Amino acid sequence: MTPRRLLLLGPPGAGKGTQAQRLVAKLGVPQVSTGDMLRAAVVSRTPVGQQAQAYMDRGELVPDAVVIGVAEERLSRPDTAAGFVLDGFPRTAAQARALDALLQKLGRSLERVLSIHVDDDVLVERLVRRSQVEGRSDDTPETVRRRMRVYREQTAPLIDYYRLQSLLAEVDGRGSVEEVERRIQEALAA
Ligand code: AMP
Repeated sequence: MTPRRLLLLGPPGAGKGTQAQRLVAKLGVPQVSTGDMLRAAVVSRTPVGQQAQAYMDRGELVPDAVVIGVAEERLSRPDTAAGFVLDGFPRTAAQARALDALLQKLGRSLERVLSIHVDDDVLVERLVRRSQVEGRSDDTPETVRRRMRVYREQTAPLIDYYRLQSLLAEVDGRGSVEEVERRIQEALAA
């Protein structure tokens, strides 16, 4: 049976959001994107949004306590019982431990972690293009560089964390959306 409790890991611009949407359409489970939830909170000026905005604009991570609260609330809703595609959470070791604890409390566990690999020069190119298409305020060259450094320093160590739990599948993120999607399907079938 295809795994349905999934996590996508990868640097900004690797295609996590796009591939999460493809998976969601295929599996019929919700996408859980802390980035999307935080952007919505900023737009509607909730307390979470007000806490998060300055960090997001600078390309830094929003504090663990804030993000963990958002993720816990979302994952505790009943529509995630049949599965979920986590995209952009966890991003730190503390978040990964909080996720493990939450899932354990809910009597669930992650089934597969897909780590999407893309070279830095391709990432920069994709992010510059995204900034033109989507107008995201955190896609400026300076914040892009900072987000890539934050990924390397704080999030990339999670690759080993999940490898040790035998959950990791590494996916080549080069090429078209369809090519990467096919590799992800192969990784899920393996
Ligand atoms: P994303 O859309 O996943 O690239 O997230 C955009 C921005 O939201 C990031 O650069 C962070 O400022 C913030 N963010 C999203 N998810 C997290 C997370 N799990 N931990 C901390 N900050 C996050």
